[in-house]
Amino acid sequence: MVKLVFLGPPGAGKGTQASLIADFYEVPHISTGDILRTNVAEKSSLGIQARNYMDKGDLVPDQLILDMVKERLENPDAQKGWILDGFPRTVTQAEEFFKKCEAGGEKAKSGSFFHVINLQVPDDVLVARLLSRGRQDDKEETIRNRLQVYYQQTQPLIEFYKARQQLIIVDGDNYIDAVTSALKQAVDKIYPK
Ligand code: ADP
Repeated sequence: MVKLVFLGPPGAGKGTQASLIADFYEVPHISTGDILRTNVAEKSSLGIQARNYMDKGDLVPDQLILDMVKERLENPDAQKGWILDGFPRTVTQAEEFFKKCEAGGEKAKSGSFFHVINLQVPDDVLVARLLSRGRQDDKEETIRNRLQVYYQQTQPLIEFYKARQQLIIVDGDNYIDAVTSALKQAVDKIYPK
C-alpha cells in the first residue's frame, strides 16, 4: 500500500510532484495547504481560524491540523493508501501522527509505517520559484517568513525520519519531468508497480 509523506521547503515542488505520483499510484493526494485554502475560500470555521496564520506565512496551530488530517484520512478513498503533502510539518505533528499510525495497528517492525521523501532545493532557487508563482501568500515578506518557519519547525523532521529509517532524499533542483523520473525510480524500489 503506497503511503508517502512529501517533505521539503516551500517552493520545492512538493505539490506538483505529489500530485503526479498520486495519479501514478492511484492514491489520493492529500495536501494540507489545499484543504486549508478551500476552507479559507468557503469561510468555514477552520478557514476563519487558519487564515491569519497563512497570510503571515506562519503555521496553523497543530491541533487544528491534526484534527483536519485525521478526518481526511478517515475518508474511504484513503483506505488504500495516500500521499501526504505538507503534513507533518512540526515535530509535534510527526509524533502525534506516529501514535495514530501505531494505534491503527500498523507495524513499526522496520521502523517504517510509511516513507518520507525530502525534495532538496537550494534557497535561492526556492525564493525565485515562489516569487514567480504569485499565490496570495507568495509576497516577498511572507516568503521569507515561510522559509524561516520551515528551517525552525519543519527541517528537524529530516533528522526525525532519518533516525527512523523512513527518509528518502531526492534532488528537486531540476526540470519537473526529471524530478518526477528520479522520484518514480526511488519510489519503485519500495512499491514496485
Ligand atoms: P508551501 O509548501 O508552499 O509553504 P502549502 O500549500 O503547503 O505551501 O501551505 C501553505 C500554508 O498553509 C502554510 O504556510 C501554513 O500556514 C499552512 N499549513 C499547511 N500545512 C500545514 C501544517 N501541516 N501545519 C501547519 N500549517 C500548515
